[in-house]
Amino acid sequence: MTKYKLEYIWLDGYTPVPNLRGKTQIKEFDAFPTLEQLPLWGFDGSSTMQAEGRSSDCVLKPVAIYPDPVRTNGVLVMCEVMMPDGKTPHPSNSRATILDDEGAWFGFEQEYFFYKDGRPLGFPEHGYPAPQGPYYTGVGYKNVGDIARQIVEEHLDICLAAGINHEGINAEVAKGQWEFQIFGKGSKKAADEVWMARYLLQRLTEKYGIDIEWHCKPLGDTDWNGSGMHCNFSTAYMREVGGKDYFEALMAAFETNLHEHIAVYGPDNHLRLTGKHETAPWNKFSYGVADRGASIRVPHSFVNNGYKGYLEDRRPNSQGCPYQIASQVLKTISTVPTEGSVAKVA
Ligand code: ADP
Ligand code: MN
Ligand code: MN
Ligand code: MN
Repeated sequence: MTKYKLEYIWLDGYTPVPNLRGKTQIKEFDAFPTLEQLPLWGFDGSSTMQAEGRSSDCVLKPVAIYPDPVRTNGVLVMCEVMMPDGKTPHPSNSRATILDDEGAWFGFEQEYFFYKDGRPLGFPEHGYPAPQGPYYTGVGYKNVGDIARQIVEEHLDICLAAGINHEGINAEVAKGQWEFQIFGKGSKKAADEVWMARYLLQRLTEKYGIDIEWHCKPLGDTDWNGSGMHCNFSTAYMREVGGKDYFEALMAAFETNLHEHIAVYGPDNHLRLTGKHETAPWNKFSYGVADRGASIRVPHSFVNNGYKGYLEDRRPNSQGCPYQIASQVLKTISTVPTEGSVAKVA
C-alpha cells in the first residue's frame, strides 16, 4: 500500500469569477487510484461563499483525476461541489448541468498576465515599457525578461506530465502577457483541463512571488492588449458534413443568441471587446475568413475544405468559465437542424 496525497480542487462561490480552492487528504491505495476509488469529501462552505455558518458543510465529488508531477505520490482531483445530500449540485456548481458531447472538440487559448508588485511583470515602477510590437512571440531579455519563460516552460512540463492536453504556448502582444492552448474532446474534458492548468499555473508561480492576472483588461482603456480565451470548436457534423448552407445557418444562430453568449463569455468583456486590438465590438455579431477583428474567425482551411472543420469564437475572455462557454456554444449549435443530433445533455 502507498500513501497518496489527494489534492481535492474545486471552484468556490465568489462571483462573477470563482476562485480555485484545494486541500489535501492522505489515503492508502495499492496503486495510483482510479476516479471510482476516490471518496466524497467535505469542506466548510461558510469560508468560500458556498454556505451559511449555521449549516456549512458542502460535499466534494471527484469528477476528474490527474497525476500531480510536482508532489511525491501526488494526485490532482477535480471536484464538483454538491449539497450535503451528495447528489444535488450546489448552485455554484457550473459543471454539473452543462451540455457535453465527445464528438464536440474544443481548443481554448488561455491568455493571462504575470503580475508582480501590482503591475505586469517587466513593467517599470512608473510609466510604461516600450510600446507593443516586439513582445508577441518575442525572444530576448528586453522582450520577455528573465523569468517568464522559465515559468511558462515549467508550467508546460507539469501540465504534460499530468496528462493535460496542452497544444502550445506563446508570448503575447503585451509585455508580461502569455498564452497556452488546451485541446479536448468533449466540453467537460476540455474545460476540466483548462481549470486544472489554471490551478497549476497559480500554484507554480507562488514560489516566484508572482501572481496571475486573469482579468480581461487589466491595463484599462490604454493601448495595451486585453486577455481573451478564444474558443475553437467543432462538432462531428461540422467536421464531416458541414457545407456552406449549414455554416450560414450556424452563424445566424450565433447572431440570434448574441446576448446568451456574451453573458457567459467572462465579466467586463465590454472593456475588452471594443473593436480595437483585434476585437469585435461585444454587442455586434460578425464573422469573417481569417478575420481577427470578427466575433467568429473562419480559418482558411474551413472554406478550402468545403465549409468543414472548426471555427474560432474570439469573444470569450481570459476569466470566462470554460464549462459555461463550451455549453453555450453547444446550445446554440443544437438549435440548427442537422440529420441527427449534435449535442445531448450529459
Ligand atoms: P491562433 O492564435 O492563430 O488563434 P492557436 O494555435 O493559438 O491559434 O489556437 C488554435 C486552437 O484551435 C488550438 O487550441 C487547437 O487545439 C484548436 N483546434 C484545432 N483544430 C480544432 C478542431 N477541429 N476543433 C476544435 N478546436 C481545434
Ligand atoms: Mn493563439
Ligand atoms: Mn492569443
Ligand atoms: Mn486565437
